[in-house]
Amino acid sequence: MSPEELLAYDREHVWHPYAPMPSTVPLHPVAAAHGVRLVLEDGRELIDGMSSWWAAIHGYGHPRLNAALTDQLGRMAHVMFGGLTHRPAVELARRLVELSPAGITKVFFADSGSVAVEVAIKMALQFWRAQGVNRPRLLTVRGGYHGDTFGDMAVCDPVNGMHHLFSDVLPVHVFAPAPPVGPDPAYVDELGRLVAAHAHELAGIIVEPVVQGAGGMRFYDPSHLRALRELADAHGLLLILDEIATGFGRSGEFWGADHADVSPDIMCVGKALTGGYLTMAATLCTDRVAAGISASGEAPLMHGPTFMANPLAAAVACASLDLLAERDWRTEVRTIEKVLSDGLAPVRGLPGVADVRVKGAIGVIETSVPIDQQRVQEAALRRGVWLRPFRDLIYTMPPYICTEDDVSRITDAMTAAVHTLR
Ligand SMILES: *Cc1c(COP(=O)(O)O)cnc(C)c1O
Repeated sequence: MSPEELLAYDREHVWHPYAPMPSTVPLHPVAAAHGVRLVLEDGRELIDGMSSWWAAIHGYGHPRLNAALTDQLGRMAHVMFGGLTHRPAVELARRLVELSPAGITKVFFADSGSVAVEVAIKMALQFWRAQGVNRPRLLTVRGGYHGDTFGDMAVCDPVNGMHHLFSDVLPVHVFAPAPPVGPDPAYVDELGRLVAAHAHELAGIIVEPVVQGAGGMRFYDPSHLRALRELADAHGLLLILDEIATGFGRSGEFWGADHADVSPDIMCVGKALTGGYLTMAATLCTDRVAAGISASGEAPLMHGPTFMANPLAAAVACASLDLLAERDWRTEVRTIEKVLSDGLAPVRGLPGVADVRVKGAIGVIETSVPIDQQRVQEAALRRGVWLRPFRDLIYTMPPYICTEDDVSRITDAMTAAVHTLR
């Protein structure tokens, strides 16, 4: 197929994320990717400002990750995980347990972030069910995003999530207002009242720690996360932290939870877990949660994906975590944070800009009206940068290996995008 034929077939037959069929927006065929650059079929090279949605932290085609993958491929691509096990899975579990906040000891491998959140919810519900207690609901905060499957959608923000499409089939959970940007005792009081009023029916609390991703790219004060940990303890609830976007250094600490120095009872990881190579996620929990689920001897944890603990994904994830351990990711993220802050500062106060915020290797421009996605994208493309803005958000989370010059080019492209708003 020529590039034109490829695009024509794609348009008619292939679904893309959150897109109509046939597609109404232009698609850009990528022929290859190396370092932080995407190479299009027409030869153009774009700096990837999105890390393929938080994932490609080491960039593309990293020799160490490639080697881990081809090495594992020589042994086996996949075997079922029911009744069998293998070195890559156990090695990865050990690394994750070692890296996780205190008390996290058990690992369930899932095949995507959405499934990891489903499993986390299932763990929390089964934990109570095993002790004969009926606690079918969860508490979360507005502005959250936890995935696209039905269990997950029910804990996504009820307004910008997809509740309106599926309100007749989604379970109804308890929503607190979005956590404020700064410390706020009145907010903590409100959380306290809400948790107390619903504690008898709550299995747990689920939130993204400190950074809310696709629900609005918001950052909130770590004190609110500490308050949720304290409330969960006071009422005996399980705290589930969705670290799928925040994990592996993105927010400037290894885990989002580290900003608040809290440990969850259940934690989800995904996205950057495999360095952006393959789809894999995991749900981790404490001894107490695992023991609680298995206590009654009634039901084991009822989940088991076909491609659970895929050896290729596990091998590349091990290599990605080794790379992180060897590299000074903290300095890399801090440098990106500085260049993003400096580069985006002049945008503040421009017409159409509601807010500019940076945390770790995440930079966000919030506009005062919904953007024209295509126009914004084209403005960035003209400057050789790939962005994927949505709603009122022009944002970036660059690969950690970006040079200062790469990051400056991203902020220049975001600035140019802002000028399309008028
Ligand atoms: C992306 C994301 C998910 C869903 O992960 P998928 O791999 O896309 O299914 C869940 N929670 C958070 C916080 C995410 O950012």
